Amino acid sequence: MNTQTRNRTRTLRIGDERVNPGERKTIQLDVASLYDYTTLSIPIEVVSGVRDGPVLFISAAVHGDEINGVEILKRLLRSAVLSRIKGTLIAIPVVNVFGFNHKSRYLPDRRDLNRSFPGSPTGSLASRLAALFMNQIVNKSTHGIDLHTGSIHRTNLPQVRASLDDPETEELARGFGVPVILHSRERDGSLREAARKKKVCTLLFEGGEALRFDEHVIRVGLRGCLSVMRHIGMIPRSRRKPKRETRVFVAEQSYWVRASHSGSFRTLKNVGDHVEDGESLAVISDPFGKDPYRVSAEEGGIIIGMSTIPLVNRGDAMVHIATFSNSKRVRREMELADEDYF
Ligand SMILES: [Zn+2]
Repeated sequence: MNTQTRNRTRTLRIGDERVNPGERKTIQLDVASLYDYTTLSIPIEVVSGVRDGPVLFISAAVHGDEINGVEILKRLLRSAVLSRIKGTLIAIPVVNVFGFNHKSRYLPDRRDLNRSFPGSPTGSLASRLAALFMNQIVNKSTHGIDLHTGSIHRTNLPQVRASLDDPETEELARGFGVPVILHSRERDGSLREAARKKKVCTLLFEGGEALRFDEHVIRVGLRGCLSVMRHIGMIPRSRRKPKRETRVFVAEQSYWVRASHSGSFRTLKNVGDHVEDGESLAVISDPFGKDPYRVSAEEGGIIIGMSTIPLVNRGDAMVHIATFSNSKRVRREMELADEDYF
């Protein structure tokens, strides 16, 4: 088969649009007609290389208020290296257009899109959107990256979550090149789970908090997406001397430290800090400052998430800690990696 024939078969159809090899197109994929008689559509940018290669989707704002990924994709789409792409990139900066416009995680019916996959064309609004996304995007892809942040009032260390039971997904997760990976089985109804069932290996990147841009997270995420693209052969490796490869560590497990008392708290640690067994993380006290209680780590590790709202009732989740066989080495690697980012 000559190149031309092969490429002609690679024309990608999304909605009513066709994207031929070598083309770059912005597509509006119609989702729903709203009750005000307007139509809502998902904006999608497809960058198709002249040469064959993987089809990678990168999605952001599946939770409408998780916006770091929107900025990551904006920067990725301006990257000059896309002119040399092999295969096809499908970028969906805002999947949950409803939530994004309302600065909300959810859809108008309070459903969580990331619990509605694979969806159904005759189901709820969330379910229909999920089904459309599966049909038009996931089923046409070979790989996927779903960009998230912590939920509202929670911030996360940049980290990759993937199901490491599958060797190809593990390789993709390692290829992202952030020091911390969490082996996480997919949640029921998540995009990641639905994609896995379709044999599209997909990882999830988490970093920062809802409704905020975090420059560090954005740079880490952008670099990770480019690194995955390089890893699967979509873009060439840099001709300059390659930067140091980031060493990647898989967490043994993770746990939340919960408030032992109700009150407001002062944190003694930050996301990314290494903590020892029993080390103090925060001090909770009542509005009079009486009876301060120290909240401590049950087991040493790296802080991968934290509540950013310093008001808690007893039992509320405060600090998320991942444990590793040697968490000091993970901390050292994070410091070295940060020197590379800035
Ligand atoms: Zn999310």
